[in-house]
Amino acid sequence: MRRPIIAANWKMHKTIGEAVALTEELVSLIADAEVDVVICTPFICLSAVKDAIAGTKIHLGAQNLHFKENGAYTGEISSIMLKELGVEYVIIGHSERRQYFAETDETVNLKVKAAIGHGLIPIICVGENLLQREQGITDELVSMQTKLALCGVSSKETEKLVLAYEPIWAIGTGMTATKEQANDTISKIRKAVAELHGDNTASKVRILYGGSINRNNISGLMREPEIDGGLIGGASLNAEEFAKIVKY
Ligand code: PEP
Repeated sequence: MRRPIIAANWKMHKTIGEAVALTEELVSLIADAEVDVVICTPFICLSAVKDAIAGTKIHLGAQNLHFKENGAYTGEISSIMLKELGVEYVIIGHSERRQYFAETDETVNLKVKAAIGHGLIPIICVGENLLQREQGITDELVSMQTKLALCGVSSKETEKLVLAYEPIWAIGTGMTATKEQANDTISKIRKAVAELHGDNTASKVRILYGGSINRNNISGLMREPEIDGGLIGGASLNAEEFAKIVKY
């Protein structure tokens, strides 16, 4: 049995004060959550959110890292720095990072290895754009992204990490993939993991769906056998909405 995860991606939203207020509201609403809840905040909010979730079962996540431990990389944050802060999860290869910050499958792979090497759990995002879906190459594309992200990652390491299928056309657009589309593509991602590491490892990896999830569509998605949770953007910025999703 794979334990479900509901992860919030706050993106570039919330000042420290706003982050603490949202977290405090969330803590009161989801104290009894039966799934793993992860809150991925902007870097500057991590420390304050860590204090606000102390003593709860909520996990702390970041939205990116640099693959080097330290060095002349102005403006970047390393896995060592995140680990020291108490971060447990880190989103890697989000489509916004690939699109606006020139991240490639190669840097995604370096980041995945850096995260694992420092005891962080990567949430690795893969997904196609609308043109790619219309061209019928979604399955090949997500399989390739998955295999490249996991290059040099052992089977033992792979079974503990998290993948997220995030069709780019569904992110922040209100256009959710149907539960059948999401389930089907996630099964292809799991097949790609199986091709690398066998069925046993693939059956342990948690694979989330992300893209315009809200309180109305979460339970349908979560009933699908391949979908192990959700990565939630816009709807995670409102405590009541996010709590409804967590308690799908
Ligand atoms: C995301 O950014 O990972 C995401 C899924 O965003 P949204 O829920 O807003 O579509």
